[in-house]
Amino acid sequence: MKIAVLKELAEGEKRVSASPETVKKFIALGASLAVEKGAGESASVADKDYQEMGATIDTRQAVLKDADIVLAVQGPDPLSLKGIKKGAWLVASLNPFGERKRVDEYAKLGIDALAMEFMPRITRAQSMDILSSQSNLSGYKSVLEAAAHYGRVFPMMMTAAGTVSAARCFIMGVGVAGLQAIATARRLGAQVSATDVRAATKEQIQSLGAKPIFVESVEGIEGEGTGGYATEMSEEYQKAQAELVSSHIAKQDIVITTALIPGRAAPRLISDAQIATMRTGSVIVDLAAEQGGNVEGAVAGKVVVKHGVKIIGANNMPSSMAADSSALFSRNLYNFLSAYWDEEAKRPVLPDDDEVTIGIRLTKDGKVVNERLLAK
Ligand code: NAD
Repeated sequence: MKIAVLKELAEGEKRVSASPETVKKFIALGASLAVEKGAGESASVADKDYQEMGATIDTRQAVLKDADIVLAVQGPDPLSLKGIKKGAWLVASLNPFGERKRVDEYAKLGIDALAMEFMPRITRAQSMDILSSQSNLSGYKSVLEAAAHYGRVFPMMMTAAGTVSAARCFIMGVGVAGLQAIATARRLGAQVSATDVRAATKEQIQSLGAKPIFVESVEGIEGEGTGGYATEMSEEYQKAQAELVSSHIAKQDIVITTALIPGRAAPRLISDAQIATMRTGSVIVDLAAEQGGNVEGAVAGKVVVKHGVKIIGANNMPSSMAADSSALFSRNLYNFLSAYWDEEAKRPVLPDDDEVTIGIRLTKDGKVVNERLLAK
């Protein structure tokens, strides 16, 4: 049972899919680990750190040869998988909707591509959920980015030279990233308010000491929403939300948007006209910029200035905290594979009728088998 750990080749990707800790744990389960040379370097893990835990270090070609399971952070280019054996598992975040053609290529290679971002949001899979572990860090970093670009301070300060007022910070979308953004902005001393379409988040916002700002005239999504997911809202709701945002946003210094709808473009929450009502020097961070953006004019990976307001388009935020994000990502993969470890087979076995298998398996026996992809 050989597990290969690939070096990430995508531009700007600093994370790695195994840590010395998870390498040690996999070896304790009976696997052998082959890590591509330099795979952990950009995440502050040296080759020798893996070697000390019992892994071998080699070229990509050599680690892929005879590997039963291949771990990666982002879906590797199929051309870079030359020599991978049929039936091997590829476990990574595969961006299945965005890289649909790539999924076909994985099928052609005869491998089982397992998309970790399709992990069902069920209690037993919480520790395997890469979206949660990475979004949490993104939420934290989005506030630090905002603070770094803000020409003022977050906390109220009473000094001998006079008083500086606290920044007003508005978080839109209160999932995993939004909750962490609220907590981080509060710790920095900002006055925080937040909104979401799912009613259950109201109490969560309050429990973190922030003020909920909700559409009251049209009903949103009851409770948590199905599986914790939002859906596209009715036109009536969108109109009421736009009015609410217009009245609130003009008084805000910092806005962080995190709203996502699975399998769809991110909902547009802030228009150019609304940005124009904000005070010069305000900062907006759009964490959904890579999924189409919540904010008009946001560009992933760029800081755009509109009407004197800086709009930061997030681009792979977790990569900017590669040491911690890799450690958590690696644990997600270990928690998944070890949960399905079969003592007799001495490898993980995924039952065909298991909810997790059905959720994450994209390809099998040369075919695309995932319902979410086939339904599109
Ligand atoms: P997400 O990344 O899909 O979306 C982020 C937030 O944006 C969500 O709260 C969503 O309701 C909100 N949103 C969508 N459209 C919006 C709009 N038009 N206006 C305002 N807000 C909008 O969500 P997420 O962070 O992955 O998680 C959402 C929920 O799922 C959370 O309650 C979380 O606890 C739960 N969850 C459970 C598990 C598990 O049990 N394994 C794993 C992950 C998340």
